[in-house]
Parts: sequence; structure tokens; C-alpha cells
Amino acid sequence: MTTISNLHTHSLFCDGRNTIDEMIQAAIRAGFISLGFSGHCPTGFLADDCQITDIDGYFNELENARRRYAGTITIFKGLELESRISGEKRPVIDPRCDYTIGSDHLFWTQEGPYSVDYTPEEWNKALKATGSVEKLMECYFEELCSFAEEVPFDIIGHVDLYTKFNEGGKLFDDTLPKYKTLALHYIDRLARTGKIFEVNTGAIGKGYRDTPYPSPFILKRLHELKVPVIISSDSHSISTINCHFDEAERLLKEVGFTTQMRLTENGFISVPL
Ligand SMILES: [Zn+2]
Ligand SMILES: [Zn+2]
Repeated sequence: MTTISNLHTHSLFCDGRNTIDEMIQAAIRAGFISLGFSGHCPTGFLADDCQITDIDGYFNELENARRRYAGTITIFKGLELESRISGEKRPVIDPRCDYTIGSDHLFWTQEGPYSVDYTPEEWNKALKATGSVEKLMECYFEELCSFAEEVPFDIIGHVDLYTKFNEGGKLFDDTLPKYKTLALHYIDRLARTGKIFEVNTGAIGKGYRDTPYPSPFILKRLHELKVPVIISSDSHSISTINCHFDEAERLLKEVGFTTQMRLTENGFISVPL
């Protein structure tokens, strides 16, 4: 079955390039039955153009859109949560959300936050601060694991985001067993949270990667552990609303998956791939 929904999308309320209405129109053209918005939650420390500043306006517009498009497409209200607010507290889930994605774009040390997502230069700063790729991975995953264990969000976003700039092993040789073993140690820990793992095509859409997050060896482990997955495109514009979904489905089937998750008015259900 073709993927006909996407729960990871951004709009002009944060760092997306289109209005909520334009994104919905694109989803209707793509034949979607539902669309979820997952704007970057207010963090207290990121630049205004990277996060929602008008949270009430965001939820009001989504609620209006939900009513306006009822019968044509189902609109879900969500947020992409950051692991910490103002560098300290965990985010609290806004009761207006139908679902939430938890993502780790940066990790914290005593000197402050380091990003694995912004630019290769920032990634190298994080490497320098931690001292080795293994340490960088440990910092990233410890942040994500504790976040996932403490906050009841639904979906783990782009779980191996630290590989964003590493296509072709540009930054480190991710085929080395020591890196794979370390990643799988944390994947096993994250799987125990019972959350859904996102299969995210966003970095293909942006030209950073040839395959979705997570890497195929992680997908294999997720399949062995019978972890539920969901395909999304982390879309920041109308042109990527369903980008590379066919490829993501093919990859999941190759690994052995036969189903993915879908959000409905009654919560998440499993549907055939
Ligand atoms: Zn993200
Ligand atoms: Zn996102």
C-alpha cells in the first residue's frame, strides 16, 4: 500500500517555507488521507526562525484547518519536541497535541549545546568538544535515550541524525563494527521505550543522504525487535510532502517489514506496507 500520510511536516510557523494551507493543498494533490503538523516546539534558546514563537496561533490555525478540511483530509496537530527547554527542563506535552515526535538535534555539555544537525562545521565542533566519534555518539544517544525514557512522546525522530553529513563516510567510517555495535546498544535501549521509530526521508530530499534515517543495519535490528515504524519526510515545503516514500517502503520491505503505523482519530494503528 502506498504511504498516504505524513506526520513530520513544518510550516511558516517555524522553519518551513509554506503556509499550513499550502501544505494541506499539496497533501491533497498527493492523494493523502491525513496530514500531521510537527512544528519545532518553543525551546527558550533556539533562534526564532527555528522554532514556533506563536504557539496559540499555531494550534488555532491547525484547529481551523481541521474543521475546514473535514471530509477531504484529516489534519492532526503535533509538535517536534526538543530534548530540553532552556537547556535544562524536559518539555511538557501540550494537551492540544494529537501526537508528538521527540527529536535530538543537539546534545548538552557543561559548555553548552552542540549540534549534530546544523552544518558539518558544527558537527566538527561537537567532535572536538567530545574528543572522539564514539564519545560524540554516546553524548547524542544518552541525551536521546534519557529524553525518550522521561517524556511520553509517540515517535522517535531521525534516530541516527548524527550521520546526516556522513554520506560516503565523509566524517567517519560508519561501517566499522565498533560504531555499529555502539549504535545498536542504544537502539536496543530506545526500543524498550515502546515508541514508534520514524523512517525519515528528509535528508534525501535535502541531498545529504541516499537512504532514509535510520541506516539499513539499524532498520534490520528494529525489525528483529518487532519495533513499530512510520514513514515520514520531515517536509519543510510543498515539494517534499511525500518525497522518496516509495523508496522508503521498498527498503522496509527488503528488511522484512510488512506493516507501518498510521495515526487515526482513534490513535495509532498498524497498516500493511
Ligand atoms: Zn528534526
Ligand atoms: Zn523536523
